[in-house]
This record gives sequence, structure tokens and C-alpha cells, in this order.
Amino acid sequence: MITVMKFGGTSVGSAEALKRVAKIIADKEDEKVVVVSAMSGITNFLVSVADSANPDVESVVTEFSNKHLMAASQLFEGETMAEFRAEFDSRIEGFRSALLADREDPFYKDAVVSQGERFSSLMLAFVLRDMGIKSVALTSEDVGIIALGTPGNGSADLLNTASGMTMRVKPLLSMGVVPIITGFYGVGPNKGPLTFGRGGSDYSAAVVANAIDADMLEIWTDVDGFMTADPRIVAGAKKIPEMNFGEAAELAYFGAKVLHPRTIEPVRLKHIPLKVKNSFRPEEPGTLIHHLRKSTAEMLRSVAAKTDLSIITISSAEIAYRPAMVARIIDKIAEINVIIYSISTTLSSVAFLVHNNDVKMTLRQLNGLSGGDIERIDVKNDVALICAVGDNLLDKCGVSGDVFGAVKEANANVEMISEGASDVSLNFVVPMSKVIDVVRTLHEKFIGGQ
Ligand code: ADP
Ligand code: ASP
Ligand code: MG
Repeated sequence: MITVMKFGGTSVGSAEALKRVAKIIADKEDEKVVVVSAMSGITNFLVSVADSANPDVESVVTEFSNKHLMAASQLFEGETMAEFRAEFDSRIEGFRSALLADREDPFYKDAVVSQGERFSSLMLAFVLRDMGIKSVALTSEDVGIIALGTPGNGSADLLNTASGMTMRVKPLLSMGVVPIITGFYGVGPNKGPLTFGRGGSDYSAAVVANAIDADMLEIWTDVDGFMTADPRIVAGAKKIPEMNFGEAAELAYFGAKVLHPRTIEPVRLKHIPLKVKNSFRPEEPGTLIHHLRKSTAEMLRSVAAKTDLSIITISSAEIAYRPAMVARIIDKIAEINVIIYSISTTLSSVAFLVHNNDVKMTLRQLNGLSGGDIERIDVKNDVALICAVGDNLLDKCGVSGDVFGAVKEANANVEMISEGASDVSLNFVVPMSKVIDVVRTLHEKFIGGQ
């Protein structure tokens, strides 16, 4: 039995947390592969460095080193500390070179922001070794996690990653070694780091599980499992004991931050069950996500919200009768790789939901449409997509009426609806200013607890 265990930023965020995680790994009897995020706060720090116009490289290196060495000084001494420092210092050289590289390189930011995982993985491997467990820190380059895509937005090449990992990781498992692999990025088309987007270590772990044909993927985080809503928005959110892949995939894609939006697909493809567990309370059973689960009586199971979106509405006479025109518009948007979260059409308009940050680029692209038959393009910024997931929603008579009734109670206008695209979720758009009220009202009325 092979288990892939992923530990997030807070789970490896301090000396104490690293020790707790090492114990969880030691207690697991299976063959195990570990994937880690950077220590909490580190990636945000690196993003601000990569975005600043003229960072002082030496003070950045000192601040970054100190953050890690402070934890290391509470964990290692003597010979272990000397060995750790030798590895650490050589990785710091790599960090310095990444900072000093050509800032015009489109992958510069990926190379800088992916540095944190190289250090958290090293620390965890040393903590395990100190406990007498054979362990080795490996980078995505070492194990061959291959990524494709544009800067900051990579996806794994599952086939090529599998062949590399089978050669480089599987032999370690049969020797009883625990590999600790960097999450968040793979080796991109330029042979340097390409990140999978913020929160991408969950996806890395799913890719690793897929590549080595694991029997189980465990995502260890700082809450008891997948919950009925974001507990930071709904204090009374409850843990969901069991979900199926479809439900978890929809919720993650539409804003449930506990899993990176694309975590489910690599494991679903190989029927690998996934557990979400709390590294601060390992005795809690967590949430099991797999193919099937028993259906339940309650109307809604969980609510998520994807914020910072915009509606772009294109008006053109009788566009509904001109499918080729709609196809050209979609082609144009696809050319620039902008994600469309929802589409709806009327006789004379097509509306798209995209991220606020993609609006400018999309409008520029649409201006290039020839033919002159677009009458008007309108943009409504700062809306949010609510995703309400439940059992066979489409079969349940009156569900949408009840849900929209609750939205009205929260004094919110529904700006766009995409009911019907999936039988597990009901999606609709509300203004950003109303998102918290809507999520809380839906939760209170249909799930229970404020
Ligand atoms: P990690 O660093 O372990 O990857 P994240 O901060 O990325 O952790 O994700 C865990 C957080 O996700 C939780 O602390 C919680 O605030 C938030 N969250 C949002 N929606 C949900 C949900 N439906 N269930 C559980 N947690 C959620
Ligand atoms: N460290 C990365 C981030 O903060 C990846 C992750 O945490 O999953 O986005
Ligand atoms: Mg995360």
C-alpha cells in the first residue's frame, strides 16, 4: 500500500509543526511519499519580492534565511546541524541566483516564488532523519514532475511525469526511504520551474499519486476536513465525512480553498481515494473523497464562492441565430487561455464570466474580431460566483426556487445563472458586496449553523 501525504504551509510552518508532521509520517505504516508546501508566509513573501521593482537581493536572502534558520535552530544541533547547514547553504546559493536572473524572462517569477518548497522539504527530511527514519529531500527537478503551460499557470504532463517518477521514486520506497518532494511547481518548457498557481501543492500531490499509482492521497491541512462552507466565513460550518469526486471537484474549482481547483482530476483518473485531514488533530477521521457515497436527505451539502470575477456581455442583433459568431468569440478568448467560468446567451447577447484580472486582455482580444457586427460590449466588475452543491439537484423539484428565495432574503440580486450544467451543483452570480451574506444565508437555511 502506497500513500502520498501532502502537508500544507501551516502544517510545516514552525519547528513544533514540523515535529508534529514528522510524527504523523512515522506513525503511518504504509510505504509513503511526502509532498510539502513552503512554510506559511514564505510564498507571500517571495511573491512580494518578485513583484517589487528593485529588491535588495542581499537583504531578501538574509530575511529568507533567518526565517528558516530560526526554526532549524530549535530542531537540529551538532553534526545534524552541520550537515543541514551544508545543504541549506547550497540551496541558498540557488535562491540568490534565481533572484539575480534576468527579470525580463517570462519564468523569472516562477523561479523565485517556488523557492520556499525547496527549504521546507529539506527541513522535514532532516527532522525525519534525526528520528532515525531514512528520508531524502527531492526537488520537482530531481523526480521529474513535468509541467506545461504559461507562467504561473502550469499543468502537469501526467504521462511524462509518471515515467520519470517510476524510475526515480519507486526504488526509494522499496529501500524504505521516505522521499520528501517539493510541491507547487514542475519543470516547465524552458527547463526551469513552472508553478501550478497559488495553493498548487495539493495538485502536485495528486500528480505524484497518479504518477506512482498510489493507493491513497492524504491532504493534511489546518481544518478537520472538507466543510459545508469556508469556516472563516461561516463560523458554524461543519465537517463533511464523505464526498464524491464530482462534488469535491466542483467546490474546489468554484472557490473552496481547502483544495487547489485541479486537485481531483489526477486522482479520479486512477480511482485513487483522497482524504482531507487536520495535521493539528490527526486523530480526527477527516473527509473521505472517492467515487461513490450514499446519498443524503439534506438539500445542500456545501457552499463555496469564487470571488473577483467580471461579466463581459457582448450584444449583437439576433446573435442566437449565428452560432458561427458565438464560436468565433469563444475561439478568440481561448487563444489567450482565459478561463471562462460560465456562459449564458439570449437572443441578442452572450455573457461570459471571467476573472477581474483577465478583463483587459479579453477586451483587447475581442476588439480584434472582424466583421463589425458586435454592437456593444459591457463589463460588470466585482461579482462572485456562488456554487451550491447537493445530491441530484436537478431531480429535486423546487430546489432553485428555494435557493433563490434565500438569496432574495440576503438582499442580493442574481446577475447570472448557470443551473443545469452539472447535476451536483447550482451556480449563480451575485455582487461581491453580497457574497458573505448570501453564503451565510444559504448555509443557515439549508445546512444549519451560522
Ligand atoms: P494549506 O496551507 O494546508 O494548503 P489552505 O489555507 O490552502 O491550507 O487551505 C485550508 C483553508 O481552507 C482552511 O483553513 C479554511 O479556512 C479554508 N477553506 C475554504 N473553504 C473550505 C471548506 N469548504 N472546507 C474546509 N476549509 C475551507
Ligand atoms: N506555497 C504555495 C502557495 O502558497 C503552494 C501551496 O501552498 O500549496 O501558494
Ligand atoms: Mg492550500
